[in-house]
Amino acid sequence: MLLDNHRRTINYLRLGVTDRCNLRCFYCMPEKGIDWLKRTELMSYEELLRICTLLVKMGVEKIRITGGEPFVRTDIMQFLTSLSGLKGLKELAITTNGVLTAPLIPELKKLGIRNINLSLDTLDRNRFFAITHRDELPAVLDTLEQLLHHNMDVKLNAVVMQGKNLDDIIPLVELTKQMPISVRFIEEMPFNGDGSHYPILEWDHVKILNTIKDIYPGIRKITDPSYSTSYNYHIPGHKGNVGIIAAYTRSFCGTCNRIRITPQGMLKTCLYDDGVMNIRDMVRVGHNDEYIQNSLIQALSNRAKDGWEAEKNRKEKNPVHESMATIGG
Ligand code: SAM
Ligand code: SF4
Repeated sequence: MLLDNHRRTINYLRLGVTDRCNLRCFYCMPEKGIDWLKRTELMSYEELLRICTLLVKMGVEKIRITGGEPFVRTDIMQFLTSLSGLKGLKELAITTNGVLTAPLIPELKKLGIRNINLSLDTLDRNRFFAITHRDELPAVLDTLEQLLHHNMDVKLNAVVMQGKNLDDIIPLVELTKQMPISVRFIEEMPFNGDGSHYPILEWDHVKILNTIKDIYPGIRKITDPSYSTSYNYHIPGHKGNVGIIAAYTRSFCGTCNRIRITPQGMLKTCLYDDGVMNIRDMVRVGHNDEYIQNSLIQALSNRAKDGWEAEKNRKEKNPVHESMATIGG
């Protein structure tokens, strides 16, 4: 079992497989002028598989594939096939924007992948375009329909943004009436890839909940699963649940069980740190498994107690501004 210096179990890896994306969500990356990583900077599938194998041996039980948009990376299905065969890995999950996902769902299901987080901030086509700069809402809704058709475990993630999608909060909650999904609202964080502004958190988890309570006063708190990053609720009579992720308020750090590896191989022991060691470089200079394992253990024995401490300890003293797509959000 992997423990950090605060005696928190580490059993969950979020793996960013690419920084590229087919949308341009304004809270995640600029619309133009993005310098994508060169192919050689990305960890190869072989390198990723080696590190995942090591981490699973060390105690990681769940891996979530994220990015960027995982399905824009060439041969991702072959990689998922290899990963799904990893002995000791209990759960393989994916976070996707849903643009390319629908036709792949039967194959994902065959690989034993059940848990899909689908990002969808609005149900309105014009607002979708305003947020993502692409007219892809129909493809994303098709993915949602197909996921339900194949009985996948779906969490729908929506970032709540002043002036952008407040009119969507209630319609998104209403999806839980007929759909057995969890609709989760996320506080907007400053990871927008554009140092020009540090968003002020107007819509924190309390304000989001109060907005829902105004329309659904009967909404009640339910037990949060272990290591949950969301506060979870249920509206009587609905098939699904509602969650709120205090990603910016950072009230869930006390039980944080996750680490991240960015597409360029940087290990992050907290979303808000700026990377504690580069695993890709260790692999490429030829270090053996034991050396890499010891380095991982060392990194975890210096883990910040929460996101506020991690942000304060950043080597780069600039305010947090890197794109979420480059850190495996
Ligand atoms: N492209 C995939 C997707 O959108 O689902 C996976 C990567 S994306 C970076 C992962 C999650 O991060 C998405 O649910 C997205 O909404 C969230 N995200 C990105 N930037 C964010 C920000 N500045 N604040 C809060 N959540 C953010
Ligand atoms: Fe792409 Fe996901 Fe970032 Fe949107 S949130 S730009 S879909 S990586």
